[in-house]
Amino acid sequence: MPWRPADELAQVVALEVLLHGPLARAELARRLDLAPATLTRISADLIDAGLLTETALPAERRNGRPSIPLDVVTSAHHFLGVKLAGDAVSAAVTDLRADVVDYFELPLDSTEPAAVVERICELVARAAGEHVIDAVGIGLGGVVDDEGRVSSAPFLGWEDVPLSSMVQERCGLPTFAAKDLTAFTEALHWFGLGAGHANFAALTLGVGVGYGCIANGRLLAGGDSGVGLVGHWPLDPLGPLCSRGHRGCAESMLTMPYLVRDISLALGREVQWPEFLTLAADGHPAARGIADASGRALGRLIAAIANLAAPELVVIGGEGVDLARVSMPAVEEGIREHRDPRAADVRVELTSGSNESWCRGAAVIALQGYVLDRRRVRSSAARTGSR
Ligand SMILES: [Zn+2]
Repeated sequence: MPWRPADELAQVVALEVLLHGPLARAELARRLDLAPATLTRISADLIDAGLLTETALPAERRNGRPSIPLDVVTSAHHFLGVKLAGDAVSAAVTDLRADVVDYFELPLDSTEPAAVVERICELVARAAGEHVIDAVGIGLGGVVDDEGRVSSAPFLGWEDVPLSSMVQERCGLPTFAAKDLTAFTEALHWFGLGAGHANFAALTLGVGVGYGCIANGRLLAGGDSGVGLVGHWPLDPLGPLCSRGHRGCAESMLTMPYLVRDISLALGREVQWPEFLTLAADGHPAARGIADASGRALGRLIAAIANLAAPELVVIGGEGVDLARVSMPAVEEGIREHRDPRAADVRVELTSGSNESWCRGAAVIALQGYVLDRRRVRSSAARTGSR
């Protein structure tokens, strides 16, 4: 069943139910400022079109009349979200509310674009064997434009690769590619901790430091998104040197390779990330010292974001998110140090750092492209541009 509301107003109603449903008709009319009769007509059309359904929830009575909430049919649509890493491709199948229903992974032997596209299409075929997939989303670290063209992705050695059109041509499904941070932030915005917030920030910790921001309900993005703008934000004048010669920048204070290097140096043996976290949690002096310095630096970065972008919430994720878990008191101290005492407390939430959360983000890029009909918008924009 395609997602094709009859007109713009029907699309607004369908999206409202997708993002905030189930909703009773009266509540929906109030939220969208629509006359009840108009909403009744639109919802009847959307039910006929198979986009909405009346839920089986117990009817709530208002003014003596039963009100049966409307909802989307979440299982009517499935999306494949692909996360590209340097050595593996992973993918999650989600339903219409981005709940993960399946997960696959394949190793990547070559980062040549054609080989990567082949691997992605293998995952698409595998997923399509078990679910009807409506669209494919791909998330990767790098600079990706609105057309899904990767202008640079150093970890793959890519420059100017038209990724989404290559995958779309090869596997025949609508395909959308985006920077992984964009995908992660959009997933939080539509279906995660950021849902219902017009202003929030997302920070990811891992091999690098990522930042995404929703301001007035829209993602802040520019041509340089994806080049790693927050990675060299100065955080500690006494911190270690980064690859570009900064002392105590975000990269040197917060990323997994640097923290693992520091603890390995301190102990004179190779220490991996999980052991570092365990040692820090157990109060080992060297690990504790590194984790606390890092936590304070993270707090300073959160304070800077809060001071400059005024988010209602800062969500932290990524595979290194447990750094924040083991150093939360230091994070809070770092925030306090750099925030005016009269300013409101910064709400910080930690989310999963699993690979699945990146795939889910990519699936939301597919889902948004599909329900907002971005392909049609893009092709008509391209036609206008060529005139
Ligand atoms: Zn740096």
